[in-house]
Amino acid sequence: MSEPSNFIEQIVEEDKAEGRISAVRTRFPPEPNGYLHIGHAKAMFVDFGTAEKYGGKCNLFFDDTNPSKEKTEFVDAIRADIRWMGYSWDKEVYASDFFDTIYDYAEKLILMGKAFVCDYSPEEIKATRGTLTEPGQESPYRNRSVEENLRLFREMKAGKYQDGEKCLRAKIDMSSPNVNLRDPVIYRILHATHHRTGDKWCIYPMYDYAHPICDFLQGVTHSLCTLEFEDHRPLYDWVGVTLGFSPKPRQIEFARLNLTNLVMSKRYLKKLVEEGSVRGWDDPRMPTLAGLRNRGIPAEAIKDFCARAGVTKANAECEIGYFEAVVRDYLNAHAPRAMAVVDPLPVVLTNYEGEEEIDFEINQTQENAGTRKVKFGKKLFIERADFSLDPPPKYHRLKLGGYARLKNAYIVRCDEAVRGENGEVKELRCTYISESRSGNDTSGIKAKGVLHWVNAETCVDAELRQYEHLLLDAEYAGQDFSERMNPHSEHIFAAKAEPYLAQAEEGEAFQLMRTGYYKKCTEGNTLVLSEIVSLKDNFHP
Ligand code: ATP
Ligand code: MG
Repeated sequence: MSEPSNFIEQIVEEDKAEGRISAVRTRFPPEPNGYLHIGHAKAMFVDFGTAEKYGGKCNLFFDDTNPSKEKTEFVDAIRADIRWMGYSWDKEVYASDFFDTIYDYAEKLILMGKAFVCDYSPEEIKATRGTLTEPGQESPYRNRSVEENLRLFREMKAGKYQDGEKCLRAKIDMSSPNVNLRDPVIYRILHATHHRTGDKWCIYPMYDYAHPICDFLQGVTHSLCTLEFEDHRPLYDWVGVTLGFSPKPRQIEFARLNLTNLVMSKRYLKKLVEEGSVRGWDDPRMPTLAGLRNRGIPAEAIKDFCARAGVTKANAECEIGYFEAVVRDYLNAHAPRAMAVVDPLPVVLTNYEGEEEIDFEINQTQENAGTRKVKFGKKLFIERADFSLDPPPKYHRLKLGGYARLKNAYIVRCDEAVRGENGEVKELRCTYISESRSGNDTSGIKAKGVLHWVNAETCVDAELRQYEHLLLDAEYAGQDFSERMNPHSEHIFAAKAEPYLAQAEEGEAFQLMRTGYYKKCTEGNTLVLSEIVSLKDNFHP
């Protein structure tokens, strides 16, 4: 077995070595109130990854204790996203599967004198909770008898009371320095239809109380969660110890993944979708897994990024550029090369007749990728930006009287720039150097610039889409996101592409030479080339 690669694995190994556990069981616990995002990929990496490493199992646990926000649509999307990431879960479990048992445990707490029904409103509870420096005040209902508590709790369950009229609280310690231990609410009244249990219940357990019970009932050994739950661990442990769970699951917290220029809170993402700022949850600019998939980012690259970012105990913000670099590395090694011209400038090779096929390198980073045939001809398109009438010194692209190589084909010399009515360059007239064919160049001409091109006779029209980040700057603490929305996060160009791209498989990723990594997709009759990640870390103008 490999060495522990982070502090969680170290704890797991100690627990195994000291005989506290035999098999590892974890759970991935999404709340089905939205789509998964790249932060959840990190949680999956930790939950599924730790179980996999130690030959254990990971459950998919839907935390559905909050009926008003949860939907079956989200459950289905979450399942699809986990599968896409390449993980498989052992059991699919819902908190609502355990509602009966969770209820029974609450009665048990009442019988033990460890829980009481409180008539305070949510506002009164908040107002008497104290602060970080001051203790809270005990509720006047705290010392109700066991019999009265049991009767009232059963009446709550039977629907006798309105939302917020009563609640069940654990009886712990109103002067605890940990606010979470100040008689926390463990059941609330909520007359809401649940996406799985319908109208069976009008009381619902609170997350902090239900979660340790659900973990225990699933046989979870290590309950891995993000740092904001660290202060909740004493309550997690209180529930387990008070109810006598053995073996008691162990909660371990790790740092959330935060990325610059991205917001991951589901609440905010939902707002973007609802306000129409993006095309939907799977818009290629969204940090949702559905968005990243639609963008063309391979699941393997996301996992690789999670592994490289590491599992730590300290919150930090990760540069979005780092994520992009990992994606770029992956695509550089895997994506076939192709050519498309974003802003086409016609080129005529005045001394070229006929047509021939040249050998185009598929991916020079792979040893055996080989070549494919591309038709060369008299009429071509190159990138308008690859020609200059007024070139700066050391300009390697095309200029009047200058030479450049057309990728995998010939060196050409530019003889004339044909101008239109407004002085704009309409066409370049060039001479091709017949002895300069790539792989067999005897011309002796040095051409430093290598330009991508397409054959004007065979090329196809394409819509090329480039993206910027949804948010304008990297800082995000305490700012209102709506003021930081990038109003120009999508750019569309009418491009000319090799016919090879039109024939390629839907969804395939390519490196468009000198342009970036793009995904092929078809919308109606339009060939769309949608940017996955730019070639270099320079941003679009
Ligand atoms: P959000 O705040 O985006 O709504 P959440 O924490 O409410 O996220 P859950 O569905 O409750 O989302 O999360 C499921 C699991 O994913 C939890 O274990 C949670 O801690 C983890 N998780 C959520 N966001 C991140 C993140 N940015 N980095 C790492 N783990 C995360
Ligand atoms: Mg949550």
